[in-house]
Amino acid sequence: MDPELIHVDPRTLLQVEQSGQPAVVYKCKLQGVPCGLHVEGMTSAVSAHLRGHGVAGPDNTSTSCIWGTCSKTLKRGSMTRHILTHLGVKVRCSVCGVVKCRHDLFRAHINSSEPCHLASAEMVDGPEGRVLVPTAWFATHQV
Ligand SMILES: [Zn+2]
Ligand SMILES: [Zn+2]
Ligand SMILES: [Zn+2]
Repeated sequence: MDPELIHVDPRTLLQVEQSGQPAVVYKCKLQGVPCGLHVEGMTSAVSAHLRGHGVAGPDNTSTSCIWGTCSKTLKRGSMTRHILTHLGVKVRCSVCGVVKCRHDLFRAHINSSEPCHLASAEMVDGPEGRVLVPTAWFATHQV
């Protein structure tokens, strides 16, 4: 076990504790005031975390990515999906196993491929992901 403590976004922590399921979290690399927190690699968690950093406003506003050394110009509404690509989170097709880097590309794949129409999205974790285990989980699983 890694003895290093993981500091987690309180919303992610709450979500993990409530669901009782482990989640994969990623270190926030947003510029400005470093928060040092880890965020779950899910659209909802990243979106909420961005708001916490003051990244908010109408979806069609042009903005620039503030993740690490990235300064790509993009629409505010695309920011969450774009951040997920920085995390390295990908989606795998449950039928044919093809891996797509974004959910919209995955949906395009299942729409265009007849045998994959009913496929579900399997999350593929990014290389820097760390597993966050809720306290209740220890009580019911042998670690
Ligand atoms: Zn942050
Ligand atoms: Zn970026
Ligand atoms: Zn497929």
